[in-house]
Amino acid sequence: MTGRTHDLAAFTALNYLFVTQPLVHTSIATVFVTIGANMLGGVAPDIDQATAQFWQRLPAGSIISRLITPILGSHRMISHSFLGIFIASLLSRWILDALKNVLIVDMNLVWIGFMIGFISHIVMDIISKEGEPLLFPLPFKFGIPPFRFLRLTTGGMMEKTIIFPSLMLFNGYLIYTNYHKFLDFLKIYIK
Ligand SMILES: [Zn+2]
Repeated sequence: MTGRTHDLAAFTALNYLFVTQPLVHTSIATVFVTIGANMLGGVAPDIDQATAQFWQRLPAGSIISRLITPILGSHRMISHSFLGIFIASLLSRWILDALKNVLIVDMNLVWIGFMIGFISHIVMDIISKEGEPLLFPLPFKFGIPPFRFLRLTTGGMMEKTIIFPSLMLFNGYLIYTNYHKFLDFLKIYIK
């Protein structure tokens, strides 16, 4: 999947959580930082590519990426596994805890936003040709459907004409069917 699709998938997951969970009243800063963290989380598993969007979104990212990517191994290794999700959840928690004195936002929500994005990436990549080493360090790659030729090519026709528009439609559907919840949410900030 391309970064664009991952961004949209991350947002879709966050949107889904928003409409299915009780409304939370939080600061506008928290809302923006949570959406930002969600988008960062949505591309974070691709940190093992030196060119990854994740790095482009961070200051001095290209320099840091050249130091870190060789440690993570080739593309789609530990970062696309259950172990990777676990490590990302600890690391992000730790980074956010360190930031909580300089950034006055609800770090719990920011963390949830990041992890929702991260997990949405793993869910989306499972339908791509490369498959994912979910049980890393065990050397098996998984994909849905199980036959490689039935799965998607990154940036290919299927992704552009089916997956991306479907996600857009689903977001539209979620907003349309939960219109009042969105209004209630916005009312907190627009007075
Ligand atoms: Zn990926």
